[in-house]
Amino acid sequence: MLMDQFGRKIDYLRISVTQRCNFRCLYCMPKIPFDYVPKEELLSFEEMFCFIKLAIDEGISKIRITGGEPLLRKELSVFIKMIKDYKKDIDLAMTTNGFLLKDYAKELKDAGLERINVSLDTLDSKKAKILAQKDVLSSVLSGIEEALKYDFKIKLNTVALKTFNENELSSLLEFAKSKNIQIRFIEFMENHHAYGQLKGLKRDEILQILSQKYQIFLLEKAEKSPVTLYTANDYKFGIIDPHSHEFCDTCNRIRLSANGLLIPCLYHDEALSIKEAVRKKDMQKAFQILKQVLQNKPEKNRWSVTDNQISSRAFYQTGG
Ligand code: SAM
Ligand code: SF4
Repeated sequence: MLMDQFGRKIDYLRISVTQRCNFRCLYCMPKIPFDYVPKEELLSFEEMFCFIKLAIDEGISKIRITGGEPLLRKELSVFIKMIKDYKKDIDLAMTTNGFLLKDYAKELKDAGLERINVSLDTLDSKKAKILAQKDVLSSVLSGIEEALKYDFKIKLNTVALKTFNENELSSLLEFAKSKNIQIRFIEFMENHHAYGQLKGLKRDEILQILSQKYQIFLLEKAEKSPVTLYTANDYKFGIIDPHSHEFCDTCNRIRLSANGLLIPCLYHDEALSIKEAVRKKDMQKAFQILKQVLQNKPEKNRWSVTDNQISSRAFYQTGG
């Protein structure tokens, strides 16, 4: 079992398989990054898999594949199958912008993937084009339809932004409800890479907007998850509210970046590289690094909007 120094059991690994993306979302990667990792610096899937086997053997039972846009990485389905074949009952999920999902849904399903989160911030194609800086909406919607065809368990991730999609929150919720999938509204997390002029909606503002149309009830905070669940009439939805909620106490996750950094916390800049260890197949060393990262895992994240400690690492780097 993996434990950190504060007694938290770590059983969840989030893997960013690439930093690259086919969108340029204003809140994540507004410009082509100057710090793209060169290809030779990336861990191969075999190298990642060496570490994953170790992590699973030590107690990781949940893995999420993310990025950047994970579907840009070639052979992703092969990688997913490698993980599934190693541990059949692993809870394996992926977060995607959905643009390429139409092409890959079937092979992902065949590889053993069951759960997908798709990011969908608007149902207005003009707004989607502004936000992603590309004409994306129809492909994303086709991707969702295709994934539904293959019976994936889908959730929608929606970053709630002032003036941008605040008048669409209920239509997005209705859209999710009509597809029988859950939507989770996410508070915008400010970071150095995102445009300064974007303003996020806070949890109470999201609830206030939705309560104009629905009776809202608080259900529960999902255990070991940053999501708080509510009902709008009888439909269950979630809010992820880092501005108003401390979820560090029950944090169970660590992250592996595409270039082999093992990151103890989304908003914590100290990370250690497993690259050399896995390249040399020195799994004892990799295990030492894993233990050191758990030792370094901070009690609380250092994300703050008000002081100058705001993270310089963007979501596309750590894997949001
Ligand atoms: N490209 C994939 C996607 O967009 O779903 C996976 C990676 S993306 C970094 C993962 C999630 O992070 C997305 O749901 C995205 O909306 C969210 N995200 C990115 N930047 C964010 C920010 N500054 N604040 C809140 N959520 C953010
Ligand atoms: Fe790409 Fe996802 Fe970041 Fe948008 S949120 S730029 S889709 S990585």
